[in-house]
Amino acid sequence: MEHVKTLTEITEVMRSKEKEHIDLVTKAYNFAEQAHHGQKRYSGDPYFIHVAAVGYTLAEMGMDTTTISAGLLHDVVEDAMVSEDDIEREFGKEIRFLVDGVTKLGKLKYHGVERHVESLRKLFVSTAKDLRVIIIKLADRLHNVSTLKYIPKAKQHRIAMETLEIYAPIANRLSIGKIKGQLEDYSFPFAYPEKYEELQALLKERNKDNEKRLEKIYRGIQIELVKSGIVNVHGEYRIKRMYSLYKKLAEHDMDISKIYDLSALRIVVPTLADCYRALGIVHSVWRPLPGRIKDYIAFPKPNGYQSLHTTIFTGDGGIVEVQFRTEEMDRDAALGIAAHFAYKEGIPGDVSGKLPNKLDWVKQVSLLQKNISASGEYLENLKVDFFGDRIFLFTPKGDVVDLPQDSSPIDFAYAIHSDIGEHISGAKINGKFLALDTKLHNGDIVEVITKKNAKPSIKWVDYAKTTFAKRSIRSYLQKEEEKRKR
Ligand code: MN
Repeated sequence: MEHVKTLTEITEVMRSKEKEHIDLVTKAYNFAEQAHHGQKRYSGDPYFIHVAAVGYTLAEMGMDTTTISAGLLHDVVEDAMVSEDDIEREFGKEIRFLVDGVTKLGKLKYHGVERHVESLRKLFVSTAKDLRVIIIKLADRLHNVSTLKYIPKAKQHRIAMETLEIYAPIANRLSIGKIKGQLEDYSFPFAYPEKYEELQALLKERNKDNEKRLEKIYRGIQIELVKSGIVNVHGEYRIKRMYSLYKKLAEHDMDISKIYDLSALRIVVPTLADCYRALGIVHSVWRPLPGRIKDYIAFPKPNGYQSLHTTIFTGDGGIVEVQFRTEEMDRDAALGIAAHFAYKEGIPGDVSGKLPNKLDWVKQVSLLQKNISASGEYLENLKVDFFGDRIFLFTPKGDVVDLPQDSSPIDFAYAIHSDIGEHISGAKINGKFLALDTKLHNGDIVEVITKKNAKPSIKWVDYAKTTFAKRSIRSYLQKEEEKRKR
């Protein structure tokens, strides 16, 4: 049996040690244990093992007490017949809101339609309303994929694919690198069993001495840094995670000799200036590979990731990537947006999780990133990815299509395929026939009716909202006009 995380284990890793906070988590822990009493997981373990694991992950991430408690309670409404009113009475409005959000998100399912994956990600984020809901859901999914082997075969593949296509990319956007990597590694063998085997075989030889070798190089770098007065250095060596290695290999015809960051050394130094100094010191001792130096400190990745990267010849015939970063950058790379909530614990009247309006939140995030030069790009990314004024619509099969607000069935039809757009003759919205200039609303199920002889008219340009549809209609009308003249 898997170990059930105890209350003490959870409170030990919690950031806050205030009595009031410990009491709340204790109450949630006991309540959940009671509610799930007698229920079992597929593994045969008590169900409570799952929610305790989720609570632990959230505590370990440094999340606030409200989120940890909601994590412990996240399945009581769905699986243990506790009502939302019960939750509110016992734990207050905020925890009710979070639990309700997690329950709702659980209802969205990935049907394996590649085309709409990005829309589904957006739908996910917009349904959550509060990023803490997503963070709970990520912790929930993490435990579920860590126990995938117990789940019925038929479900394994779908859950693994959904994790790789939806959950891991969202964790990545929120720059929660730690969870993203784990989600991928647990899911990979179930999503692509053959590729996984292939990669295992490829790596078998390579990894043998790798760890020892890396440790030796790390010691060497540490000595050089101390000589130059950079002390308090710590680091870790890692072999590239399986799934991200697989994705990279796929880009390079599965030729492993082309992967330069198969293994990497991470060097954590006290200050930002030390990062650049350490890079200089390392380059003066080990020759760097040309073209592999990346300054993600001056130019962070769109998700906010910061570090200096270089690849050096190690002198034993190999190469290794070395990354330099500060403690804060290291923490942000692992926890991303979650770190933002963690910092706020205990501030009275804190509404960090509620995102009162989208711009405020975006501003907060950009402050967190503390990088003015890149913030323009970063803000743009967040807006486009998460908060554009989009509506999410469904095909009768449940595929998601996302469109700008005020879009019409014509936009919907063109978004599916321009051929369908060109032949739309009517639309059923939530089962009712409605006019082609009807404004669609979030969550509408739209069925496009096509006829062979239906064709665009000039009025459609006004009905359409998206540039794509407008342009397609105009170009169709133009072609017709030219045909007539001939
Ligand atoms: Mn769950």
